[in-house]
Amino acid sequence: MHYFPLFADLKSRPVLVVGGGSVAARKVNLLLQANAEIRIVAQKLNLELTTLEAQGKVFWLAKHFSAEQLKSVFLVIAATNDEQLNQRVFRLAESQHKLVNVVDDQPHCSFIFPSIIDRGSLQVAISSAGRAPVLARLLREKLEALLPQHLGKIAEISGKWRDKVKQRLHSVTERRRFWETLFSGRFVNLVKNQQIELAEEELARQLENDYQGGVVSLVGAGPGDAGLLTLKGLQEIQQADVVLYDALVSDEILGLIRRDADRIFVGKRAQRQYVAQEDTNQLLVKLARQGKRVVRLKGGDPFVFGRGGEELETLVENRIPFSVVPGITAGIGATAYAGIPLTHRDYAQSAVFVTGHRKADASDIEWQTLARSHQTLVIYMGTLKASFIAEQLQQHGRDSNTPLAVISQGTQLTQTTLVGRLKNLAELAKNAPTPALIVVGEVVELHHKLAWFGEDKQRQKRPHFTLDSLAIGQVA
Ligand code: SAH
Repeated sequence: MHYFPLFADLKSRPVLVVGGGSVAARKVNLLLQANAEIRIVAQKLNLELTTLEAQGKVFWLAKHFSAEQLKSVFLVIAATNDEQLNQRVFRLAESQHKLVNVVDDQPHCSFIFPSIIDRGSLQVAISSAGRAPVLARLLREKLEALLPQHLGKIAEISGKWRDKVKQRLHSVTERRRFWETLFSGRFVNLVKNQQIELAEEELARQLENDYQGGVVSLVGAGPGDAGLLTLKGLQEIQQADVVLYDALVSDEILGLIRRDADRIFVGKRAQRQYVAQEDTNQLLVKLARQGKRVVRLKGGDPFVFGRGGEELETLVENRIPFSVVPGITAGIGATAYAGIPLTHRDYAQSAVFVTGHRKADASDIEWQTLARSHQTLVIYMGTLKASFIAEQLQQHGRDSNTPLAVISQGTQLTQTTLVGRLKNLAELAKNAPTPALIVVGEVVELHHKLAWFGEDKQRQKRPHFTLDSLAIGQVA
């Protein structure tokens, strides 16, 4: 082991910083987070440090360094641009057995600063022993993405309950089992959703050995490209015991689900097995009652033509806790990848998302409003009724030459964009692979200029986002 990792309590402990420039300021800011008492030795302070000094957060000890200043401090940091001075600080600190760091000069460091992931009481420090700081930083970024913000809160609550748990559970094994069960169950979800009181009730109940039920998370998977999944969505599908997904969820995203989680297809594609909405609702309730962590994964955003609301109503009726993770809806994702801005100062001042598929007939649709010019119309589920839609829009005043695009399998490697005019909508829609989104409006003109995610141009280049590429061993 090249360096021994330690977590030091620097609260109110004096730290000497030699240097008053931006490098010193960076370290000072870091140390202030740990509430260290900062003493600065520098000819002059930069603006940032001057401000901190004026606020009483740091103490400007002297203009010149002397061995005397090392006496009562715990750590020493040399961050001047005078190499000789830095080395003198190092030598004198060493001779007084003080931990010392000359910034960016590893041979003159008896300790180094790790990359830090800070989740309050829970911290992760990473070091490459100074060999590959960029690698350590990359790893930190990956871990930042994987470690949710609420971990700190979990650690904090656990700390608060530790003594009580000790009193009630006498053996170490019992206690270990208790915490393991707690950290892989409903408690964590409650903390994540900021339902702290409920979380503590849950902890208390588990301590009394009560049965606890599961939770459901309704997660938007986005339109296909796994890179568009939110961090929270990724965390949910990696923690789930069971994932219910529908036909619009891409294989790339299914590949990110925790490997030993159960997957249940509840799609509504004609060619595949058909699952009635009511059955899905009931299945969610049943699985949650079994104490499982259930993710209901839906294409795009669950609240945009996704029936997410209906599923949640059933959960409310059955008093099952839930949360919602929004996703990028096809109207945002597919248009972005097709180089079609939904609004543009010269072309459209508003955008309307509408479904082309209605439960009953479409007679209550306000075609007049939809047919307005300088408005972008984004039509979901519209290809089957394309000729009717085109007819109505033209009848209600939209110019038959209005530019139009049909984007198929948006954001996926197979994305295609067919462009034409409103009068040709039926024809274009007929040839479009599904799922397909219809975009009507002047903004479609911009596609010719702004298309970037090309079937040919970009397909080869796009990095493939898999769980494996997040794996620690493959960062390099
Ligand atoms: N909740 C989803 C929409 C579900 S309705 C969302 O927010 O995106 C299903 C319709 O969405 C499809 O008929 C199609 O019109 C559109 N759609 C979904 N994914 C798409 C994609 N990747 N490319 C183009 N259209 C898509």
